[in-house]
Amino acid sequence: MFDPLTLAQETEKIVVRGNLKKYYRTARGGKWYGGIASAYCCGCNLRCVFCWSGFPRDHPDKIGEFYSPDQVFNQLKQVASRYGYRQLRITGNEPTIGEDHLFGILELIDQSDFQFILETNGILIGHDRHYAEQLSRFKNLHVRVSLKATGSEEFSRLTGAKPEAFDLQLVALKNLLDAQVSFHPALMISFSSTSDISELKSKFTEIHQSLADRLEEECVILYPPVVERLKKASIEPTG
Ligand code: SF4
Repeated sequence: MFDPLTLAQETEKIVVRGNLKKYYRTARGGKWYGGIASAYCCGCNLRCVFCWSGFPRDHPDKIGEFYSPDQVFNQLKQVASRYGYRQLRITGNEPTIGEDHLFGILELIDQSDFQFILETNGILIGHDRHYAEQLSRFKNLHVRVSLKATGSEEFSRLTGAKPEAFDLQLVALKNLLDAQVSFHPALMISFSSTSDISELKSKFTEIHQSLADRLEEECVILYPPVVERLKKASIEPTG
């Protein structure tokens, strides 16, 4: 079991250089959110068993090139303009690792008509409320906090991280709410019982009444490497 905050620091040393960050794939278009341009960054501070990012997550030192915020924004803009998209994102791994790089991109997006969807596991935002406060500066931003489990034991089993770190995902929701950042929670439901999902939703009311209604339920996509990893861990989706 590992501490995802320590892993974030170690990963940052590999994938961040000043305001440059490592990406393993140049931007491309996709159907998510009704059409979005995506850039694919390297490195994460969790090890979710259902994750579709394999090599760039586990070996960020062996793959990818460093790009500046300008370069990433321009790539995203080009793809979005080609397909008529209004939305941009960084996916593949954890975009909150490397604050300066992320904020540099968000500054450029704020000077445009594009909307940025920040897909994050929320660990760093939960650890440091100033992260959420910094994000509140950006108007063309919506944050999607992807909860990996309904509780701490399940979180640890599915992500490999220490159980206590689950709470950081919930604190991220509170920090974003307090900082008045536009956001919603998502939850991987493929490994949880209906009663555990309901219990999590009731826990949400301690943070804000509306969170349960805004919860996006996400199901595992069984790409061949994901099936392989689940098999190795002897974990099966419940539905
Ligand atoms: S947080 Fe996302 S990128 Fe990181 S391991 Fe989990 S699913 Fe993969």
